[in-house]
Amino acid sequence: KTFADFDLAQPIKDALARAKFEKPTAIQAQAIQPQLDGRDILGLAQTGTGKTAAFALPILHHILQMPGRAAPGTARALILAPTRELAVQILDEFRRFAGGARVSTCLVLGGVSRNVQIRNLGRGVDVLVATPGRLLDLVDDRKVRLDEVRFVVLDEADRMLDMGFVQPVRRIVSMLHPRRQSAMFSATMPSEVSGLAGSFLNNPVRVEV
Ligand code: AMP
Repeated sequence: KTFADFDLAQPIKDALARAKFEKPTAIQAQAIQPQLDGRDILGLAQTGTGKTAAFALPILHHILQMPGRAAPGTARALILAPTRELAVQILDEFRRFAGGARVSTCLVLGGVSRNVQIRNLGRGVDVLVATPGRLLDLVDDRKVRLDEVRFVVLDEADRMLDMGFVQPVRRIVSMLHPRRQSAMFSATMPSEVSGLAGSFLNNPVRVEV
């Protein structure tokens, strides 16, 4: 398989060439097409397998097909990560493949000033990458609403649950648009993770590397 096998929007193909990504990794080869086709994904994969691009590329493709811009105070795609470090890496990967395209991004993390986050959310964002605690603070303060989120990813779900984010994650998920495309990635599949997958994902394609 090559990236040319996927019908990705031209700005993404250009960014892949610039990044010198030639061949999809195993998780990308399995997960990208189902997401382009609108399917939910349950992915068993560790960091280092290319899982970030496996969800970032199809989400960017879908966002580039959407007309207009995100409405003020809303987000079109939401990526939840357990830690600040992972959230930063995910945002970087999205920005890399959004290239020059008109995709707005926002990073919402605890431990840093809320002001920039609030200003960005106020304009409306295409891709919001967040840790659960700070995101819920901003939702409760009505700085952002999540009912327009059409694409959602729970990354490193096992770590998210280990860190005590079960209730926050369930609360966030309950606010999203009912007709959304969802993906969940985890390195391990303990029963809490498969329980969350069962309630969160709609007939997912299971991929494993
Ligand atoms: P991840 O597992 O998403 O953290 O990705 C690990 C590293 O591999 C990151 O630096 C990615 O930018 C890089 N990477 C992901 N997919 C590919 C690919 N198809 N070709 C080359 N590098 C890649």
